[in-house]
Amino acid sequence: MTKRFVIALIKHETNTFSPIATPLSSFGHGNGPYYGEEAKVAFAGSNTPFAAFLDIARREGAEAVTPIAAESWPSNMASRATFEALLQPLEAAVSAGCDACFLDLHGAMVVEGCDDAEGEILKRVRRIRPGLPIAVTFDYHTNLSADIVANASVITGYKTYPHVDMYEAGMLAGDILARSLRGQAKPVMAWGWLPLVSSIMRHAPEDGPSGDILRYAREMETSGRVLAATLLPGFAHADTPYTGVSAVVVADAAAGGRDAAQEVCDRMLAIAWERRAEYVFHPEALEASVARARALGAGARSGPVLLIDHCDNCGSGGTQDVMQVVEEILKQNLDDVAIAPIRDPQAVAQMIAAGIGNNVNLMLGGKTDMPSIGLAGRPLPVSGRVVSITDGEIVFTGPMYTGLKSYLGRTAVLDTGRAQIVVTERHHEPFDLVIFRHCGIEPVKKRFIMLKSRIHYRAGFKPIASHIVECAGAGVTSADLSVYGYRKLVRPVFPLDAI
Ligand SMILES: [Zn+2]
Repeated sequence: MTKRFVIALIKHETNTFSPIATPLSSFGHGNGPYYGEEAKVAFAGSNTPFAAFLDIARREGAEAVTPIAAESWPSNMASRATFEALLQPLEAAVSAGCDACFLDLHGAMVVEGCDDAEGEILKRVRRIRPGLPIAVTFDYHTNLSADIVANASVITGYKTYPHVDMYEAGMLAGDILARSLRGQAKPVMAWGWLPLVSSIMRHAPEDGPSGDILRYAREMETSGRVLAATLLPGFAHADTPYTGVSAVVVADAAAGGRDAAQEVCDRMLAIAWERRAEYVFHPEALEASVARARALGAGARSGPVLLIDHCDNCGSGGTQDVMQVVEEILKQNLDDVAIAPIRDPQAVAQMIAAGIGNNVNLMLGGKTDMPSIGLAGRPLPVSGRVVSITDGEIVFTGPMYTGLKSYLGRTAVLDTGRAQIVVTERHHEPFDLVIFRHCGIEPVKKRFIMLKSRIHYRAGFKPIASHIVECAGAGVTSADLSVYGYRKLVRPVFPLDAI
């Protein structure tokens, strides 16, 4: 009889300090979730675990049932009603009968009344069919819990940041589960967790201890000692009891893998703990960063100088309208600058009303208050000419989310003379050159590029950059952990406490 695989995607990175709401419509990147066959159409062939799961179902000759694919960009927690609306199609599909479940989850989702949404999703699926084999992939920024591990059969996560191995992570988890269904493996997992709030600015493999830990994890996989070894450096902007650095390792119990899984997991976490000081980010003053970028731009260069506005990264729940870094760039008279994206629907409407070729005076950005960190929105007065207007529909061609479609909302470009500023209706992290190219700006030719991003910009922009300067503005993705009034973290925790 044909096997039936339930494949679903429910993903949200929840920044519990973000002022941005997360209605059901935000899943699907603003257009609501995909249900049933349309989920397959949207994700087939993309660089995502969901696409890998579809390929595994085809390979195994199984029927792929795709009740829901729902991903929202990061923001604050969804309501309980929204969460139930996301879970309902998945629960219905599992109840209807299936042989295995493949879940593409984030790992840092918090919803109203539940600090561990992924643990809840897995518990609910398992409750319907207690013995069901379940494979799960997680984002690198996962806060792992005991409920998650207890209710999954196989867990893997991304090993890259920027995340360019999403499909690979899905293939690894899905393949192990498929082998277990054929009786060729008996997956067993070991996991561990550290009271360590690591800065996302130090998560990239080339920046902190993660690179060495990931190298070790890959060695253990390729040597066959374990089936999958995953490092999860955590998500510091979700205030939960699960926030921390963790690791989870899958091995084959039939081949005596239980001990191997534990040993590999312990070794990965030992490296993270020994080198925990390297997970702390030490920012430079904004004025000094912009001056340094200006000097780099004046010298001989092989490409643009990137200015990274990392404290207002909408890819982690930032409002994308904090204007401090833009203000400093204009104040220090940097020339030939492209900036993306400022989210300001009001300004977009004004620019569209003015029309291409006409001048406008705007109070740009600064429309959102951030009460959780005591920061009020402060718009920046700017004048310039409207040079481009688009519907904001883009397709990624770079290494991240390759092939997926996304939506910036209506988009307009303001040219101030020195700077071209891309202003959008929706939140969107700039990790692909399409963010500029779709509205007529060629990023390769610019002297300076300012991006509201933290690490993911590296996927598309690092290859074209001559220099990268991290600029500490302000916002709900600040690298300064002291701005967050944490209430739920397990204490003591490094680096907030001396341990
Ligand atoms: Zn991530």
